[in-house]
Amino acid sequence: MIPFNKPCVLGHEIEAIQQVLVENKLSGNGKYGDFCINWLEKNLPANKALLAPSCTAALEMSALLMNLTSKDEVIMPSYTFVSTANAYALRGAFIKFVDIDSKTMNINPEAIEKAITPKTKAIVVVHYAGVACEMDKIMAIAKKHKLWVVEDAAQALQSKYNGKSLGTIGHFGTFSFHETKNYTSGEGGALIINHLPSNDRAEIIQEKGTNRSQFFRGMVDKYTWQDLGSSYLLSEINAAYLSVQLDSADKIFDNRMETWNYYYNSLKPLMEKEILELPFIPTHIKHNAHMFYIKTKNAYIREQLTNYLKNNNIMAVSHYVPLHSSLAGKKLGVFVGEDRYTTTDSERLLRLPLYYDIKVEDVDYVINCIKAFFNA
Ligand SMILES: *Cc1c(COP(=O)(O)O)cnc(C)c1O
Repeated sequence: MIPFNKPCVLGHEIEAIQQVLVENKLSGNGKYGDFCINWLEKNLPANKALLAPSCTAALEMSALLMNLTSKDEVIMPSYTFVSTANAYALRGAFIKFVDIDSKTMNINPEAIEKAITPKTKAIVVVHYAGVACEMDKIMAIAKKHKLWVVEDAAQALQSKYNGKSLGTIGHFGTFSFHETKNYTSGEGGALIINHLPSNDRAEIIQEKGTNRSQFFRGMVDKYTWQDLGSSYLLSEINAAYLSVQLDSADKIFDNRMETWNYYYNSLKPLMEKEILELPFIPTHIKHNAHMFYIKTKNAYIREQLTNYLKNNNIMAVSHYVPLHSSLAGKKLGVFVGEDRYTTTDSERLLRLPLYYDIKVEDVDYVINCIKAFFNA
């Protein structure tokens, strides 16, 4: 069976984890955590990065930093992971779901503008498949209406928009190091703070609402409860694993990109014959080979193809069920404007196996099975 995903294991992560045990510092913000934070701050580059237990947690931190309440509305695509919406619904905010652009599966800036009301406080964009949203347009809309912008860059570490790293353009950016992502720590995430006045409060929110971080730096002589907060730290054991992956980020990136390009070039003839659609990468965007998807003509063909691949021992998988159509989505939000692409495109999209060090023979086999399906 060719799985859809295999978590990235380089091999020497175990040495870093062993070192954590030797040094006897297991909780968050230790040596390995610092390595990861410095890596992010230097390589993105970013003003400030905090490690978190997950991207979900980092999104929740952003909701606290924006002081969202039940009087507020947040605009986001319906085509996203549940955490994007949960984080703000947890603060009581009402979710306004809008449509995507069919070409990139990313939020449509015109749909954002139409969904803005006097209650709107924030726009949350999702860089699907590590391909950037139209950030210039989105930031201009946000500026005009004085709104916050959060980039859910869970899939987008090492992707760029006009030369700028994703996650560093909005007021806040969030990354995921879940095992399904390019660089992993099993579970893990990061919050990037581009809104300088939020630097200190973010540390307080991360440390259960206390000024413990300032205490550790010797800035105060005891730490106390300052604000709302939670436990939003990443354990050193996870950070050690992550440090090895970030240290080899370019190697992982190149390996995935090679597979992505191979899929693209091999399946291009099917796109040219209009048998299926392939991902579209605008020229001002540099993606990170997070995902390779195809889009069939309709939901029926996707189902047939999925089953055909499964019968040939290949796991290809669909992705998000639009949030506005889900049980919770109907209670916690509403779709605004026309659903031109969200539902239909989500039913046509199929993700192919892509992971670090996938064998060329396996990729060839997947490609040949897809070609055989459409020839039959
Ligand atoms: C993976 C993902 C998340 C959740 O990440 P976790 O680290 O598992 O919390 C959130 N949003 C998007 C778009 C994702 O792809």
